[in-house]
Amino acid sequence: MKNGIEYLLALNKRHSALFDAMHSERAQYRALHKTEIAFIKCMDGRVHGAVMTRTPLGIIQPWRNLGGMFDIGWFGFAQSIKEWFDYAVNQGHDCLVFATYHFAKGDRERGCRGFHYDIDVARESTKKLKDQFDRVFRRRGLYAIQCGIETDEESFVLHGDAGETVYLSDHDRGTDSELSMMLCRLYPNMPHGVVKDLLRLVRGNIEHSRVIRAMNRPVIDVEHREWVLAVGRGFDWLHEVNTALIVGPYDPNLDGAIRTAATLIKGNIDEGRIDVSARGGVVLLSSAPYRGLTGPARFLAAEKAKFLNAFALEVIREAPELHDLLPRLEELTVTMDYNTRQIGRV
Ligand SMILES: [Zn+2]
Repeated sequence: MKNGIEYLLALNKRHSALFDAMHSERAQYRALHKTEIAFIKCMDGRVHGAVMTRTPLGIIQPWRNLGGMFDIGWFGFAQSIKEWFDYAVNQGHDCLVFATYHFAKGDRERGCRGFHYDIDVARESTKKLKDQFDRVFRRRGLYAIQCGIETDEESFVLHGDAGETVYLSDHDRGTDSELSMMLCRLYPNMPHGVVKDLLRLVRGNIEHSRVIRAMNRPVIDVEHREWVLAVGRGFDWLHEVNTALIVGPYDPNLDGAIRTAATLIKGNIDEGRIDVSARGGVVLLSSAPYRGLTGPARFLAAEKAKFLNAFALEVIREAPELHDLLPRLEELTVTMDYNTRQIGRV
């Protein structure tokens, strides 16, 4: 068996090759659908927007954190959303933000651990986030919607602006014009071009979940066995179930978020759910992404990644209950190139 770091490097290599192979598919998609899409979501590996909407990799920009909990007042989050929004405005594109939560219809315990499996609290949290987006961006070229993701059949639940809830699994046989009318009803102020691009995602999700349903697959084992503590951004390539706990660099209480994730991983070791002797340890994966090979962006990303690594180590060192974890930690500090999705060690 490969050790943890080798496994992650190989996984990234495979993803990057897949991303590269989708180049022309991505270009075709972008030619037809100009809206920039963001998924604000849980770090849970099951929640994968591109797969669930049959969209080429690299179209949907993810923001991931425990539970998908975000506040637009967080400086780091505000800044990265603003950068993304400015990029879209410069391109003359509209923005569509999915504020998502997830749950499993078959068993509450397969829901979101970040919200202690409480779907109402998760819904409330994404509603609050959507309202924040509305206050800042509404009628400025960015439309935010609240969306639930049912992970057993990988089907979306759309929450309309007036409180109506639509399970896409109930619209399996909807025609494009029926679905389009439904979206206009749910989101009466959504620009026509955004409705058209959302329709493509809705159609993709309906088809994807129909396939999942037909497979009648066994329920994914979600007993927690994560062995990677991932800190930072640029983890689009890391969607393996039960592999990583991802802490985005957004929460002003970043040390608290890292401590929570590290405690969960230590629990996985202590309770025998992961075999550290087989893998050689737990990996602290620190990452920062960059775009473009010229200018300082790549070097700035390297400094960010190094800082996050040092910061996470310090948090773990300072927490007496996490002392046993330190000797088991292997460190992988990387930057990720948005153009290739390749990581490089720094
Ligand atoms: Zn979750």
